[in-house]
Amino acid sequence: MTTTSPEILQIVEALCARRRFVLSSHSRPDGDSIGSQLAMAYALQAMGKEVTVVNADPAPPPLMAFPGVPEIRIATSADGDFDAAIIMECGDLKRTGVTGLERFFVINIDHHPGNTGFGQINWFNAGAAACAEMVYEVVRALDVPLSKTIATHIYLAILTDTGSFHYSSMSARTFDICRECLEAGVDPAQVARMVFDSNNLGRLKLFGAVLNLMQIDPSGRIATLHVDHEMTLAAGGTYEDTEGLVNMPLTVKNIVASVFFKQEQGNEYRVSLRSKGDIDVNAIAKAYGGGGHKNASGCTLTGALDELQTTLARQLDGAIDGRPARR
Ligand code: 5GP
Ligand code: MN
Repeated sequence: MTTTSPEILQIVEALCARRRFVLSSHSRPDGDSIGSQLAMAYALQAMGKEVTVVNADPAPPPLMAFPGVPEIRIATSADGDFDAAIIMECGDLKRTGVTGLERFFVINIDHHPGNTGFGQINWFNAGAAACAEMVYEVVRALDVPLSKTIATHIYLAILTDTGSFHYSSMSARTFDICRECLEAGVDPAQVARMVFDSNNLGRLKLFGAVLNLMQIDPSGRIATLHVDHEMTLAAGGTYEDTEGLVNMPLTVKNIVASVFFKQEQGNEYRVSLRSKGDIDVNAIAKAYGGGGHKNASGCTLTGALDELQTTLARQLDGAIDGRPARR
């Protein structure tokens, strides 16, 4: 069963009526940003449209081997003439890190709770396990054949955004879509190897260095991690290599929440929060001006690291016990 919501019909009509598209997603793109954008890009190209993908930051290194990824334009402004901008997997236009997108007719397709509805067309579905599930529905509604390339990007997005089929966001529809992707020629083992088994040694060493300094709260339920430029350099890795690291503590049975501080400049930290089951870390991230999903969210904080660590461990303790997030 496919869901043809009124928004999908609006999007199909808007895409058919236009010719030149610029596509974007959130800065520091992940598998869902890359997969959603490129699935859409290849579908539009199959319809004879002109497509430019513009991202503020490059894709994580393992994703560079996927079709079209090296051709993504890395820029902080959307230069050129386009008939529409399609923004996928991005809760707010500012989070693209790309200026000038608002000059165009904006189509916003997203699954992040708290999406600001910044488009002329907004299709929001918090029930989608990955934004690429929504892109799949658009591709189907456009009547574009599901090529192996399009299917690969949709599968890549679902594989990564569900944390390798770990998170509670999955539905029967998720697996229907994956089945369609496999029938279109996707080799799931090959995609998994490309995503998870093609890292450099520096990444593994950096994981070791960060995990060695992990702190566990007295209840044994909360892990706190941090990384700075010095540790990264010493391990021979990069900040991009820390992708996924915040999930590692959750492999321990009793650890149900994890927070990872990544030093930006001086006292400024990018904070990633992860949790298991019903524990809502999105509410915490939102209280600090960030956002994301119930089990995976982030924000930016400024202050002394040990104080920030204590504060967030307290917030996570509250979230585990069902107390509302409060600053
Ligand atoms: P990560 O920890 O991997 O950077 O992000 C986890 C999730 O939270 C992703 O879905 C990401 O889009 C979202 N997220 C991370 N940081 C922010 C933020 O500052 N604002 C908002 N709205 N969402 C964020
Ligand atoms: Mn996503």
